[in-house]
Amino acid sequence: MCEWRPGMMRSVITCFMALAILPALDSAAAAEPTVTAARIGVTPAKTRFVLEMDRKVAFQHFTLADPYRVVIDLPEVAWSVPQRRVKPDGLIKDFRYGLFHAGVSRVVLDAKGPVTISKSFMLSPRGGHGWRIVIDLKQVSRQAFFQRIRPRTMAGAPPAGLPPEPIPLAKRATSNLIAIDPGHGGIDPGTIGINGSLEKHVVLALAQGIARRLRKTGKYQVILTRKRDVFVPLRERIAIARTAGARLFISLHADSIKNPHIRGGAIYTLSERASDKEAGSLAAKENKTDLIAGIDLNVHSAEVANILIELAQRETMNDSVTFAAYLAQELSKSMKLLRTNHRFAGFAVLKAPDVPSVLVELGYLSNRVDAKLLNNSNHRRRVAVSVVAAVDAYFAGQQAFKSP
Ligand SMILES: [Zn+2]
Repeated sequence: MCEWRPGMMRSVITCFMALAILPALDSAAAAEPTVTAARIGVTPAKTRFVLEMDRKVAFQHFTLADPYRVVIDLPEVAWSVPQRRVKPDGLIKDFRYGLFHAGVSRVVLDAKGPVTISKSFMLSPRGGHGWRIVIDLKQVSRQAFFQRIRPRTMAGAPPAGLPPEPIPLAKRATSNLIAIDPGHGGIDPGTIGINGSLEKHVVLALAQGIARRLRKTGKYQVILTRKRDVFVPLRERIAIARTAGARLFISLHADSIKNPHIRGGAIYTLSERASDKEAGSLAAKENKTDLIAGIDLNVHSAEVANILIELAQRETMNDSVTFAAYLAQELSKSMKLLRTNHRFAGFAVLKAPDVPSVLVELGYLSNRVDAKLLNNSNHRRRVAVSVVAAVDAYFAGQQAFKSP
Protein backbone atom coordinates (compact mmCIF):
# COMPACT_ATOMS: atom_id res chain seq x y z
CA MET A 1 0.00 0.00 0.00
CA CYS A 2 2.91 2.29 0.57
CA GLU A 3 5.30 3.03 -2.18
CA TRP A 4 8.07 5.45 -2.85
CA ARG A 5 8.44 6.67 -6.36
CA PRO A 6 11.15 8.78 -7.95
CA GLY A 7 10.15 12.41 -8.08
CA MET A 8 8.50 12.34 -4.71
CA MET A 9 11.46 14.21 -3.26
CA ARG A 10 9.58 16.22 -0.70
CA SER A 11 6.73 13.82 -0.49
CA VAL A 12 7.86 12.25 2.67
CA ILE A 13 6.29 8.88 2.76
CA THR A 14 7.95 6.97 5.51
CA CYS A 15 6.34 3.69 5.33
CA PHE A 16 6.66 0.98 7.87
CA MET A 17 4.69 -2.16 8.10
CA ALA A 18 3.73 -1.87 11.72
CA LEU A 19 2.64 -5.42 11.95
CA ALA A 20 2.76 -8.19 9.49
CA ILE A 21 -0.66 -9.43 8.52
CA LEU A 22 -1.92 -11.03 11.65
CA PRO A 23 -3.40 -14.51 11.83
CA ALA A 24 -6.80 -14.83 10.22
CA LEU A 25 -9.58 -13.37 12.26
CA ASP A 26 -11.89 -15.59 14.16
CA SER A 27 -14.25 -16.89 11.53
CA ALA A 28 -17.13 -16.57 13.99
CA ALA A 29 -16.51 -12.82 14.21
CA ALA A 30 -19.37 -10.98 12.61
CA ALA A 31 -19.44 -7.68 10.72
CA GLU A 32 -16.49 -5.34 10.75
CA PRO A 33 -14.19 -4.62 13.71
CA THR A 34 -15.33 -1.73 15.89
CA VAL A 35 -13.14 0.97 17.37
CA THR A 36 -14.57 1.72 20.79
CA ALA A 37 -12.24 4.37 22.18
CA ALA A 38 -9.37 6.68 21.34
CA ARG A 39 -7.03 8.09 23.98
CA ILE A 40 -4.06 10.42 24.14
CA GLY A 41 -1.53 10.18 26.96
CA VAL A 42 1.30 12.66 27.44
CA THR A 43 4.61 12.30 29.31
CA PRO A 44 7.68 14.57 28.98
CA ALA A 45 9.30 11.97 26.73
CA LYS A 46 6.45 11.05 24.41
CA THR A 47 2.85 11.40 23.32
CA ARG A 48 0.96 8.12 23.17
CA PHE A 49 -2.05 7.60 20.92
CA VAL A 50 -4.22 4.58 21.67
CA LEU A 51 -7.07 3.11 19.64
CA GLU A 52 -9.12 0.50 21.42
CA MET A 53 -11.13 -2.06 19.49
CA ASP A 54 -13.08 -5.27 19.82
CA ARG A 55 -10.64 -7.44 17.91
CA LYS A 56 -7.15 -7.73 16.58
CA VAL A 57 -6.48 -6.01 13.23
CA ALA A 58 -3.47 -5.39 11.02
CA PHE A 59 -2.41 -1.77 10.72
CA GLN A 60 0.16 0.37 8.92
CA HIS A 61 1.46 3.84 9.57
CA PHE A 62 3.50 6.51 7.87
CA THR A 63 4.38 10.16 8.36
CA LEU A 64 3.94 13.14 6.06
CA ALA A 65 5.52 16.59 6.12
CA ASP A 66 4.25 20.09 5.30
CA PRO A 67 2.16 19.94 7.37
CA TYR A 68 3.41 17.22 9.70
CA ARG A 69 0.96 14.35 9.92
CA VAL A 70 0.92 10.77 11.15
CA VAL A 71 -1.36 8.44 9.22
CA ILE A 72 -2.62 5.10 10.56
CA ASP A 73 -4.42 2.81 8.12
CA LEU A 74 -6.64 -0.05 9.29
CA PRO A 75 -9.00 -2.44 7.58
CA GLU A 76 -12.50 -0.98 7.24
CA VAL A 77 -13.81 -0.57 10.79
CA ALA A 78 -16.92 0.80 12.46
CA TRP A 79 -16.42 3.77 14.81
CA SER A 80 -18.30 4.03 18.04
CA VAL A 81 -16.12 6.89 19.29
CA PRO A 82 -17.70 10.35 19.39
CA GLN A 83 -15.79 12.57 16.95
CA ARG A 84 -15.04 15.35 19.39
CA ARG A 85 -14.75 13.67 22.75
CA VAL A 86 -10.97 13.21 22.93
CA LYS A 87 -9.03 16.44 23.37
CA PRO A 88 -5.84 16.76 21.36
CA ASP A 89 -2.80 16.97 23.63
CA GLY A 90 0.99 16.78 23.69
CA LEU A 91 2.46 16.53 20.20
CA ILE A 92 -0.99 15.98 18.68
CA LYS A 93 -2.69 19.17 17.52
CA ASP A 94 -5.79 17.52 16.16
CA PHE A 95 -6.93 14.19 14.81
CA ARG A 96 -9.77 12.65 12.83
CA TYR A 97 -10.81 9.30 11.51
CA GLY A 98 -13.15 7.76 9.00
CA LEU A 99 -13.41 5.67 5.87
CA PHE A 100 -10.60 6.43 3.43
CA HIS A 101 -11.79 4.17 0.67
CA ALA A 102 -13.63 0.86 0.52
CA GLY A 103 -11.75 -1.57 2.73
CA VAL A 104 -9.48 0.98 4.41
CA SER A 105 -10.25 3.15 7.42
CA ARG A 106 -7.80 5.84 8.37
CA VAL A 107 -6.74 7.92 11.34
CA VAL A 108 -4.84 11.15 10.68
CA LEU A 109 -2.99 12.85 13.53
CA ASP A 110 -1.95 16.46 12.92
CA ALA A 111 1.38 16.87 14.70
CA LYS A 112 2.53 20.13 16.27
CA GLY A 113 5.93 19.73 14.60
CA PRO A 114 8.26 17.09 13.20
CA VAL A 115 7.69 13.79 15.03
CA THR A 116 8.77 10.24 14.71
CA ILE A 117 6.90 7.08 15.61
CA SER A 118 9.24 5.73 18.27
CA LYS A 119 7.13 2.64 18.94
CA SER A 120 3.99 1.01 17.64
CA PHE A 121 2.45 -2.22 18.81
CA MET A 122 -0.80 -3.98 19.63
CA LEU A 123 -1.81 -4.91 23.18
CA SER A 124 -4.10 -7.84 23.86
CA PRO A 125 -7.18 -7.37 26.07
CA ARG A 126 -6.43 -6.85 29.75
CA GLY A 127 -7.82 -4.97 32.74
CA GLY A 128 -11.20 -4.32 31.17
CA HIS A 129 -9.66 -2.98 27.96
CA GLY A 130 -10.05 -4.53 24.53
CA TRP A 131 -7.39 -4.87 21.85
CA ARG A 132 -5.33 -1.69 21.64
CA ILE A 133 -3.19 -0.18 18.90
CA VAL A 134 -0.50 1.93 20.57
CA ILE A 135 1.46 4.60 18.70
CA ASP A 136 4.21 6.49 20.55
CA LEU A 137 5.31 9.80 19.09
CA LYS A 138 8.56 11.55 19.89
CA GLN A 139 9.53 15.06 18.89
CA VAL A 140 12.47 15.30 16.47
CA SER A 141 14.14 18.09 14.48
CA ARG A 142 13.01 18.73 10.93
CA GLN A 143 16.37 17.45 9.76
CA ALA A 144 15.99 14.23 11.74
CA PHE A 145 12.45 13.84 10.40
CA PHE A 146 13.72 13.84 6.83
CA GLN A 147 16.68 11.59 7.69
CA ARG A 148 14.31 8.96 8.96
CA ILE A 149 12.68 8.52 5.59
CA ARG A 150 13.27 4.99 4.54
CA PRO A 151 12.09 4.83 0.99
CA ARG A 152 11.01 1.38 0.04
CA THR A 153 9.21 0.02 -2.91
CA MET A 154 6.57 -2.54 -2.36
CA ALA A 155 4.98 -4.50 -5.12
CA GLY A 156 1.28 -4.20 -5.66
CA ALA A 157 -1.21 -1.42 -5.65
CA PRO A 158 -0.29 2.28 -5.84
CA PRO A 159 -0.53 4.29 -2.62
CA ALA A 160 -4.04 4.25 -1.28
CA GLY A 161 -6.23 7.09 -2.42
CA LEU A 162 -4.65 7.74 -5.80
CA PRO A 163 -7.05 7.08 -8.66
CA PRO A 164 -5.89 4.99 -11.60
CA GLU A 165 -3.85 6.82 -14.21
CA PRO A 166 -4.36 8.37 -16.63
CA ILE A 167 -7.65 10.20 -16.33
CA PRO A 168 -9.51 9.22 -19.51
CA LEU A 169 -10.71 11.96 -21.78
CA ALA A 170 -14.34 12.78 -21.34
CA LYS A 171 -16.68 10.99 -23.66
CA ARG A 172 -18.32 13.23 -26.16
CA ALA A 173 -20.89 15.02 -24.10
CA THR A 174 -24.07 13.96 -25.81
CA SER A 175 -25.59 12.43 -22.74
CA ASN A 176 -27.78 14.19 -20.23
CA LEU A 177 -25.64 13.06 -17.35
CA ILE A 178 -25.33 15.29 -14.30
CA ALA A 179 -22.59 14.70 -11.73
CA ILE A 180 -23.53 15.62 -8.18
CA ASP A 181 -20.58 15.94 -5.84
CA PRO A 182 -21.32 15.83 -2.10
CA GLY A 183 -18.22 17.48 -0.58
CA HIS A 184 -15.91 15.85 1.98
CA GLY A 185 -16.83 12.42 3.44
CA GLY A 186 -15.26 9.63 5.46
CA ILE A 187 -12.18 10.88 7.24
CA ASP A 188 -12.90 14.48 6.19
CA PRO A 189 -16.02 15.70 8.04
CA GLY A 190 -15.94 19.18 6.46
CA THR A 191 -17.38 21.93 8.60
CA ILE A 192 -18.79 21.05 12.00
CA GLY A 193 -22.07 22.84 12.67
CA ILE A 194 -23.12 24.86 15.69
CA ASN A 195 -25.64 22.07 16.36
CA GLY A 196 -23.00 19.37 15.94
CA SER A 197 -24.12 18.37 12.46
CA LEU A 198 -21.38 17.57 9.98
CA GLU A 199 -21.11 19.12 6.52
CA LYS A 200 -20.34 15.71 4.97
CA HIS A 201 -23.70 14.29 6.13
CA VAL A 202 -25.78 17.35 5.23
CA VAL A 203 -24.45 17.56 1.67
CA LEU A 204 -24.81 13.81 1.07
CA ALA A 205 -28.48 13.93 2.11
CA LEU A 206 -29.10 16.84 -0.25
CA ALA A 207 -27.15 15.21 -3.10
CA GLN A 208 -29.30 12.09 -2.82
CA GLY A 209 -32.46 14.21 -2.88
CA ILE A 210 -31.32 16.13 -5.96
CA ALA A 211 -30.34 12.88 -7.72
CA ARG A 212 -33.76 11.38 -7.02
CA ARG A 213 -35.57 14.42 -8.38
CA LEU A 214 -33.41 14.72 -11.47
CA ARG A 215 -33.98 11.05 -12.31
CA LYS A 216 -37.69 11.39 -11.73
CA THR A 217 -37.96 13.94 -14.55
CA GLY A 218 -37.00 11.12 -16.93
CA LYS A 219 -34.69 13.59 -18.70
CA TYR A 220 -31.43 13.10 -16.86
CA GLN A 221 -29.02 10.46 -15.74
CA VAL A 222 -27.20 11.18 -12.50
CA ILE A 223 -23.89 10.09 -11.07
CA LEU A 224 -22.83 10.80 -7.48
CA THR A 225 -19.12 11.15 -6.76
CA ARG A 226 -19.81 9.39 -3.46
CA LYS A 227 -22.86 7.49 -2.31
CA ARG A 228 -21.85 6.95 1.29
CA ASP A 229 -19.68 8.31 4.08
CA VAL A 230 -16.35 7.76 2.35
CA PHE A 231 -13.47 10.03 1.47
CA VAL A 232 -12.92 10.77 -2.24
CA PRO A 233 -9.87 12.81 -3.32
CA LEU A 234 -10.65 16.00 -5.25
CA ARG A 235 -9.16 14.92 -8.54
CA GLU A 236 -10.95 11.58 -8.35
CA ARG A 237 -14.23 13.50 -8.11
CA ILE A 238 -13.33 15.29 -11.35
CA ALA A 239 -12.24 11.99 -12.92
CA ILE A 240 -15.56 10.33 -12.03
CA ALA A 241 -17.51 13.11 -13.79
CA ARG A 242 -15.22 13.20 -16.85
CA THR A 243 -15.05 9.44 -17.29
CA ALA A 244 -18.82 9.20 -17.20
CA GLY A 245 -19.11 12.05 -19.73
CA ALA A 246 -21.04 14.37 -17.43
CA ARG A 247 -22.53 17.56 -18.90
CA LEU A 248 -22.63 19.37 -15.57
CA PHE A 249 -20.79 19.03 -12.28
CA ILE A 250 -22.44 20.35 -9.12
CA SER A 251 -20.35 20.30 -5.95
CA LEU A 252 -22.29 20.73 -2.70
CA HIS A 253 -20.87 22.28 0.46
CA ALA A 254 -21.81 24.20 3.58
CA ASP A 255 -19.55 26.80 5.12
CA SER A 256 -18.84 28.14 8.59
CA ILE A 257 -17.62 31.51 9.77
CA LYS A 258 -16.68 33.18 13.07
CA ASN A 259 -19.67 35.53 13.11
CA PRO A 260 -22.64 33.31 14.06
CA HIS A 261 -25.15 35.85 12.70
CA ILE A 262 -24.08 35.55 9.10
CA ARG A 263 -26.21 33.21 7.02
CA GLY A 264 -27.01 32.51 3.39
CA GLY A 265 -25.63 30.55 0.48
CA ALA A 266 -23.65 31.39 -2.64
CA ILE A 267 -22.61 29.85 -5.94
CA TYR A 268 -18.98 29.68 -7.02
CA THR A 269 -17.32 29.11 -10.36
CA LEU A 270 -13.66 28.70 -11.18
CA SER A 271 -11.33 31.59 -11.68
CA GLU A 272 -7.59 31.80 -11.12
CA ARG A 273 -8.19 35.13 -9.42
CA ALA A 274 -10.74 35.21 -6.64
CA SER A 275 -13.62 37.69 -6.93
CA ASP A 276 -13.02 38.78 -3.33
CA LYS A 277 -10.92 37.93 -0.30
CA GLU A 278 -13.57 35.73 1.32
CA ALA A 279 -14.03 33.67 -1.85
CA GLY A 280 -10.26 33.18 -2.05
CA SER A 281 -9.93 31.94 1.52
CA LEU A 282 -13.01 29.74 1.12
CA ALA A 283 -11.41 28.04 -1.90
CA ALA A 284 -8.20 27.55 0.07
CA LYS A 285 -10.21 25.94 2.86
CA GLU A 286 -12.20 23.64 0.55
CA ASN A 287 -9.01 22.67 -1.32
CA LYS A 288 -7.52 21.31 1.91
CA THR A 289 -9.61 18.16 1.89
CA ASP A 290 -6.86 15.92 0.47
CA LEU A 291 -4.46 17.22 3.08
CA ILE A 292 -7.00 16.56 5.82
CA ALA A 293 -7.31 12.96 4.62
CA GLY A 294 -3.57 12.35 4.82
CA ILE A 295 -2.70 12.55 1.13
CA ASP A 296 0.60 13.95 -0.05
CA LEU A 297 -0.24 16.98 -2.16
CA ASN A 298 3.19 17.34 -3.72
CA VAL A 299 2.64 14.29 -5.90
CA HIS A 300 -0.04 15.94 -8.00
CA SER A 301 1.30 19.42 -8.64
CA ALA A 302 2.46 18.80 -12.23
CA GLU A 303 -0.87 17.42 -13.30
CA VAL A 304 -2.79 20.32 -11.82
CA ALA A 305 -0.59 22.66 -13.85
CA ASN A 306 -1.54 20.81 -17.03
CA ILE A 307 -5.20 21.05 -16.22
CA LEU A 308 -4.81 24.78 -15.74
CA ILE A 309 -3.36 25.09 -19.23
CA GLU A 310 -6.30 23.21 -20.66
CA LEU A 311 -8.55 25.70 -18.97
CA ALA A 312 -7.98 27.93 -21.94
CA GLN A 313 -11.10 26.16 -23.08
CA ARG A 314 -13.22 29.12 -22.31
CA GLU A 315 -16.45 27.55 -23.44
CA THR A 316 -16.52 25.35 -20.37
CA MET A 317 -16.01 28.34 -18.13
CA ASN A 318 -18.70 30.32 -19.93
CA ASP A 319 -21.14 27.43 -19.55
CA SER A 320 -20.28 27.21 -15.86
CA VAL A 321 -21.09 30.89 -15.42
CA THR A 322 -24.35 30.50 -17.36
CA PHE A 323 -25.43 27.60 -15.17
CA ALA A 324 -24.39 29.49 -12.01
CA ALA A 325 -26.71 32.33 -13.03
CA TYR A 326 -29.67 29.96 -13.46
CA LEU A 327 -28.82 28.36 -10.16
CA ALA A 328 -28.69 31.67 -8.30
CA GLN A 329 -32.04 32.65 -9.79
CA GLU A 330 -33.75 29.38 -8.82
CA LEU A 331 -32.11 28.95 -5.42
CA SER A 332 -33.19 32.45 -4.39
CA LYS A 333 -36.75 31.03 -4.39
CA SER A 334 -35.96 28.33 -1.81
CA MET A 335 -33.15 29.64 0.37
CA LYS A 336 -31.46 32.79 1.56
CA LEU A 337 -28.49 33.74 -0.59
CA LEU A 338 -25.70 36.18 0.24
CA ARG A 339 -26.01 39.57 -1.39
CA THR A 340 -23.16 38.79 -3.78
CA ASN A 341 -24.34 35.30 -4.56
CA HIS A 342 -22.15 34.43 -7.54
CA ARG A 343 -18.45 34.52 -6.75
CA PHE A 344 -15.24 33.22 -8.30
CA ALA A 345 -12.20 31.48 -6.85
CA GLY A 346 -9.64 28.75 -7.50
CA PHE A 347 -11.54 25.69 -6.28
CA ALA A 348 -9.55 22.56 -7.20
CA VAL A 349 -12.70 20.48 -7.62
CA LEU A 350 -13.98 22.79 -10.39
CA LYS A 351 -10.96 22.26 -12.64
CA ALA A 352 -12.40 19.76 -15.13
CA PRO A 353 -11.46 21.33 -18.46
CA ASP A 354 -14.48 19.97 -20.29
CA VAL A 355 -17.32 19.73 -17.75
CA PRO A 356 -19.10 22.95 -16.76
CA SER A 357 -18.76 23.00 -12.97
CA VAL A 358 -20.17 24.97 -10.07
CA LEU A 359 -19.75 24.76 -6.32
CA VAL A 360 -22.69 25.64 -4.09
CA GLU A 361 -22.23 26.72 -0.48
CA LEU A 362 -25.67 25.95 0.92
CA GLY A 363 -25.42 28.17 3.95
CA TYR A 364 -23.43 28.54 7.14
CA LEU A 365 -23.47 25.67 9.60
CA SER A 366 -22.10 28.20 12.12
CA ASN A 367 -25.50 29.95 12.00
CA ARG A 368 -28.35 28.39 13.99
CA VAL A 369 -31.02 29.04 11.36
CA ASP A 370 -28.98 27.74 8.44
CA ALA A 371 -27.81 24.73 10.46
CA LYS A 372 -31.38 23.86 11.41
CA LEU A 373 -32.65 24.28 7.85
CA LEU A 374 -29.90 22.17 6.32
CA ASN A 375 -30.84 19.37 8.69
CA ASN A 376 -34.50 19.65 7.74
CA SER A 377 -35.69 17.34 4.97
CA ASN A 378 -38.46 19.74 3.84
CA HIS A 379 -35.93 22.48 3.32
CA ARG A 380 -33.64 20.13 1.44
CA ARG A 381 -36.58 19.08 -0.76
CA ARG A 382 -37.24 22.72 -1.69
CA VAL A 383 -33.58 23.27 -2.50
CA ALA A 384 -33.53 20.11 -4.63
CA VAL A 385 -36.56 21.38 -6.59
CA SER A 386 -34.66 24.62 -7.28
CA VAL A 387 -31.59 22.76 -8.50
CA VAL A 388 -33.71 20.68 -10.90
CA ALA A 389 -35.38 23.87 -12.21
CA ALA A 390 -31.94 25.43 -12.81
CA VAL A 391 -30.73 22.32 -14.67
CA ASP A 392 -33.91 22.41 -16.80
CA ALA A 393 -33.39 26.08 -17.61
CA TYR A 394 -29.74 25.52 -18.47
CA PHE A 395 -30.43 22.66 -20.89
CA ALA A 396 -33.36 24.52 -22.44
CA GLY A 397 -31.00 27.45 -23.04
CA GLN A 398 -28.32 25.21 -24.56
CA GLN A 399 -30.91 23.66 -26.85
CA ALA A 400 -32.23 27.04 -27.99
CA PHE A 401 -28.68 28.22 -28.65
CA LYS A 402 -27.82 25.18 -30.76
CA SER A 403 -31.08 25.06 -32.76
CA PRO A 404 -31.03 26.77 -36.14
ZN1 LIG B 1 -16.95 22.03 2.12
